[in-house]
Amino acid sequence: VWANCLSVIKSDLNESSYATWFAPIVPLRFVNNTLTIQVPSQFFYEWLEDNYVNVLRKAIDVAIGRHGLLEYSIVVDKGDKKNPPISFNIPNQVSSNNTFGNKKIEVPSKSPFQTTPTETLELESYLNPKYTFDKFIEGDCNRLGRAAGLAVANKPGLTSFNPLMIYGGVGLGKTHLIQAIGNQIKSDYPGKFVLYVSTEKFTNQFVNAIRNNSIESFTNFYLQVDVLIIDDVQFLSGKEKTQETFFNIFNHLHQSGKQIILSSDRAPRELNGMEDRLLSRFKWGLTADLQQPDYETRIAIIQKKLQDDGIQIDFEVLEYLAHTIQTNVRELEGVIISLMAQASLTRKDIDLELAKSTLKSIVNEQEKELSVENILDVVTTYFEVDMDTLRGKCRKKENVFPRQVAMYLLKELTNLPLKSIGYHFGGRDHSTVIHAVQAVSEAMETDKSIEKTVRKLYGRFH
Ligand code: ADP
Ligand code: MG
Repeated sequence: VWANCLSVIKSDLNESSYATWFAPIVPLRFVNNTLTIQVPSQFFYEWLEDNYVNVLRKAIDVAIGRHGLLEYSIVVDKGDKKNPPISFNIPNQVSSNNTFGNKKIEVPSKSPFQTTPTETLELESYLNPKYTFDKFIEGDCNRLGRAAGLAVANKPGLTSFNPLMIYGGVGLGKTHLIQAIGNQIKSDYPGKFVLYVSTEKFTNQFVNAIRNNSIESFTNFYLQVDVLIIDDVQFLSGKEKTQETFFNIFNHLHQSGKQIILSSDRAPRELNGMEDRLLSRFKWGLTADLQQPDYETRIAIIQKKLQDDGIQIDFEVLEYLAHTIQTNVRELEGVIISLMAQASLTRKDIDLELAKSTLKSIVNEQEKELSVENILDVVTTYFEVDMDTLRGKCRKKENVFPRQVAMYLLKELTNLPLKSIGYHFGGRDHSTVIHAVQAVSEAMETDKSIEKTVRKLYGRFH
């Protein structure tokens, strides 16, 4: 079973990721649809979960099926003190000297491949190296945030963008952008201690520190950081104690000219449950939002992702994907991954046919955007017209009406802009779509049976 998983995984990843993260895994057993794999360390496990969970899920789906489960067994290294991801027991030499410059500190090795108990290591940044500026496609939707990020990366702590707060909806690239800043600083300023931490992890560490009576070393640890990147600060809301400690850390770092980078899923003014004094700090620097990618940016993102994997597709497929998935970049990536998987499993090229059938199979409850194909399917079945006719230009009444209903449903059920709806019908312009939507609305008002029909079709998706 594991061998099957590996072959799926291998086709998804480049060689070095595969060799680093999958080759060291040992399969232990396969019982009751549950595959247990042994990983070398806690860190290794977290890394897999953080970065490869989709790849693993897909591999399990293929090798075992939908009901397949994956369990990890983590090797505990006895010689190691079993550090939590960030140790609170770090010798406090740095802050006692009052120099923040020297970041080489003795910490027990966490590397799964080394057994020496202590070794001079650079402090772990917890950055994912794949998140770089290079891979972050620029568009109108993110121009300000990206530019501010670059400015901060060039001169951490020295611009007026301190803190830099990036906000935006899910899957729009917040984590990618703030980590790209961190990665860039790390490579340009190797002496600086860059730390990426999710708010959730920060909170958990804080709670543990209270439990273990080690608040002081917790705080001291954070005071050593030169560039603090903290993701999803909306999760601080309602957590008064954590906020208070974060406030103190923030002030210290800010006063000593250290860079702070924050992300949030909403604008500071919409962050409820947050202390005013903390909120006002968030607004000190620069706040920039990330928006849904526009059509051109979506095209560029898809192209880039495929290019990175050495895959070429026709422009018609690109166009189709960019017109069909509009929600967010993560969704877009998910679809590309499924497409590549489908293509490699069925040994077919990625063409329009495959793109359509793959999108159809991705049923996503919230994201109605993905259901274009399903909506059109329902309409063709109900009116007994074939798909080409529905999408085509034939002006016979028995074809025009279903087409108008399909346009109406797409308009009502998805977030697709009119231009994209028109695209799905042979590239008609938005005025045709407006006309269709009006025609159906009027028909529903004057004809009860039409109203009933449309409601019924609509109801299939609600
Ligand atoms: P968020 O943190 O806002 O929920 P992420 O940063 O996790 O979103 O982004 C989701 C996925 O989309 C990531 O894999 C990321 O690499 C990708 N992504 C987001 N924005 C872009 C972009 N502008 N260019 C390329 N990839 C992007
Ligand atoms: Mg994120």
